[in-house]
Amino acid sequence: MQPPATSLPSQKELEKEISDYLAKKYGTQVRIISPQTMAAEDEGKAGRSQEKQKKFEFNTKPEELAAFLDEYVIRQDEAKAILATKICTHFNRVRHAQAHPLQARRTEGLIKNNVLLIGPTGVGKTYLIKLIARKLGVPFIKGDATKFSETGYVGGDVEDLVRDLVREADDDIEAAQYGIIYLDEVDKIAASPNRIGIDVSRTGVQRALLKPMEETEVDLKVPHDPISQVEAIEHYRATGKRPHRVVNTRNILFIMSGAFTGLEEIIKRRVQSSAIGFGGEVVSKRAASRYLRQVRAEDLIEFGFESEFIGRLPVVAVLDELSENDLFLILGNPNSPVVIGKKIDFLAYGISLQFTENALRLLARLAHQEKTGARGLVSVMERTLMGFEKKLPSTDIRFLAVDTKLVENPPAALEKLLSAVEEQSRQETLCAELAAEERSHLTDYLRASRAAYLARHGVQATAARLQLMARLCQENIMETGEACDLLIAEVEEIRNCGRKISEKSGVAVFFSEEAVDRILAIEQPLAREKIESLCASLLAKIEYGLQLLREKKDLHELSVPAAAIDDPERFINDLVKSCYRE
Ligand code: ADP
Repeated sequence: MQPPATSLPSQKELEKEISDYLAKKYGTQVRIISPQTMAAEDEGKAGRSQEKQKKFEFNTKPEELAAFLDEYVIRQDEAKAILATKICTHFNRVRHAQAHPLQARRTEGLIKNNVLLIGPTGVGKTYLIKLIARKLGVPFIKGDATKFSETGYVGGDVEDLVRDLVREADDDIEAAQYGIIYLDEVDKIAASPNRIGIDVSRTGVQRALLKPMEETEVDLKVPHDPISQVEAIEHYRATGKRPHRVVNTRNILFIMSGAFTGLEEIIKRRVQSSAIGFGGEVVSKRAASRYLRQVRAEDLIEFGFESEFIGRLPVVAVLDELSENDLFLILGNPNSPVVIGKKIDFLAYGISLQFTENALRLLARLAHQEKTGARGLVSVMERTLMGFEKKLPSTDIRFLAVDTKLVENPPAALEKLLSAVEEQSRQETLCAELAAEERSHLTDYLRASRAAYLARHGVQATAARLQLMARLCQENIMETGEACDLLIAEVEEIRNCGRKISEKSGVAVFFSEEAVDRILAIEQPLAREKIESLCASLLAKIEYGLQLLREKKDLHELSVPAAAIDDPERFINDLVKSCYRE
């Protein structure tokens, strides 16, 4: 039988029909991509890439970057200084070469500032690099060197890292070309003299890394990967061009890290052979870090690296093990992701979470026993609070104050909290006390760490503003830097409004610091639109008076006091009256 003669659907209609069918069957994860969509997406990406390219205006200075790291990372001062300096120089060098193409040729032979980080697990190696990438706004990915030796896929995997970086940069090749690739456990690809079989592949991995670390072009299309093949076909159908998308690794910074167990013994032997010493004794932890700081290329070669590999890692930074007190300081840091993360988890259920100082000390002690650096903090925190995180959301309990008793015996504390109403009200009171303490702590911290930054942005750190930032941090579980930047933007907005009033009235209007504080106090939570409407209404109320004063009394400048914010009409009337009286 002949099918009924219906008119054929257009491509669009057909796509819609298939999409609807797919959506019904598989949800929103599956969709059909037509050549048009691909082309449109490609355009979008190209647009974004141009935007990013234009935006590579790197101008961060080492001191600024180091100060930023200080706000997050406890200890590791030497590593912070080395990384802040050398990574800033790397990106500044790139920027300079772009701005001065004639000089750029001279930088071609220069060795890139790739970095080797030496230090045990959980002491902040990854954290430092992640923070730096975030501050500099460059894409970052982390890989594991052991993966390469295990699979035996030497060259391919190294190039995959570069492709991952492009993916991380939202497919923006330009941005990826200024990214950071972090490779952990690099000590595991050192050849060891006793294991010849594996060493061939280990040395092979080192060799495979040589070119990317310096400069090479990586094709984004993987020959055996069906997805990239399909993408290439689609691209061809959409644009009629065969894509040849390659990433140049010349400006990509490589950071390699590892614990390098045993390296201190090699250094010790070298150092002691040139001095009279007591060989033979086991190197203590403190002595190990002292030895590690004297590391030279020859020690790393003896450890099992090829000299070409070491030659491409000219910057070495050693990170120290963290003491119990360091772990406590990490927990007490208002920007600590360990504590912030847990508070956010509980706040998501409407539960306010606070810790007593002694509880934090105990958590630090327990974490230190795990011997995994700051990573122990996360596991101890999880272990302690897991039961509460499970049970409390289904109850009316909205306050949890973690004290030493709770840390010592979480199940007992949970049971008591669930069964005794008095315990619930005790927790609520304790939470309020701890929150007040935390706020005053935060205010002090902000004064010490942020006053200079605010001053650089032309904003005074008044008591009201410090308290406002502390509130922002506390109520929104915001990092101190974010709260600070929000405040700066708001103060700038208020000043802008002053400028607008000046333009309209012809009198240069400045808000006094007290007036700015008063506006900030009214407009909470901080919001741009609110400030705008407040200023518009202020202008409406004083505009006529200002005009009068300008025309009749030749007033050209006016500093607005706080009282004018409270009662603008009265302020302007009094001002007019007093001027006329004069
Ligand atoms: P690794 O040295 O093994 O790369 P990480 O940097 O990944 O360890 O540390 C794990 C987590 O522990 C980080 O995300 C961070 O929250 C915390 N941390 C580690 N070291 C520090 C430090 N020195 N200061 C503050 N937090 C740290």
